[in-house]
Amino acid sequence: MIFTILTLFPSLFESPLNESLIKKARDRGILDFNIVNVRDFALDQHKTCDDYPFGGGAGMVMKVEPILGAMRHVEQQMGGRPHFTLLTPHGRLFSQDVASGMARRNHVVLICGRYEGVDERISSYIDDEISIGDYVLSGGEAAALVVIDAVARLVPGVIGNEQSSMDESFRESLLEYPQYTRPQCINDLEVPSVLLSGNHEEIRRWRRKESIRRTILRRPDLMDRFTASQEDRRFIREIMEELGE
Ligand code: SAM
Repeated sequence: MIFTILTLFPSLFESPLNESLIKKARDRGILDFNIVNVRDFALDQHKTCDDYPFGGGAGMVMKVEPILGAMRHVEQQMGGRPHFTLLTPHGRLFSQDVASGMARRNHVVLICGRYEGVDERISSYIDDEISIGDYVLSGGEAAALVVIDAVARLVPGVIGNEQSSMDESFRESLLEYPQYTRPQCINDLEVPSVLLSGNHEEIRRWRRKESIRRTILRRPDLMDRFTASQEDRRFIREIMEELGE
């Protein structure tokens, strides 16, 4: 899978895309990154990429033409039109479902805004607008890295053990069960004994129930989208009784 990033700050991607899982996936040819400096496509000799907002007001607005130039360049490089996504606080909210949809594409282009955002007319040229949350970042680069990280781990072969991404939080609208590692006891805090039992079926049931318990307690909103099996419904009843409800 190829990620192309259109940015005014290419160096921000150097370290994060050259470490850990992503670095290994790059080395194995599973992921590829194409960082395009939008400033290279500015139309004037000063390489201007921002300008004053029409109507006045604070700050500068990112110009459309350099971004369009960078998009045309990517189309020529790739020999076709890829899927263009703008990172913006006005976009649809990024989620595990959105990440899964993106992971099915061969090529995703992420456009990073700066300043007070991009001239609104960019929306006529792009396919999607994504926000990573209800807060304002200084630029789309940090948001692009969040999207890349979440999408990359869903691309087959990126995570060594495919089961880990199957079990993770938000699959089936549930948070993941609690995880423990050695030592078995820290300051009187013991690992739940079932996890030491070696009984795989009991461990599976415990994890499933704790996953449901954690979701009910911490993110009850997710339960509205959860389709419970007969076993899950029994766990829910037990959890409610244990909680005294
Ligand atoms: N003035 C804009 C507003 O109030 O909506 C905020 C612009 S922000 C300072 C500059 C750039 O950061 C945006 O164009 C976008 O690319 C990126 N950005 C900021 N917050 C974001 C978020 N929550 N999700 C995705 N991108 C974000």
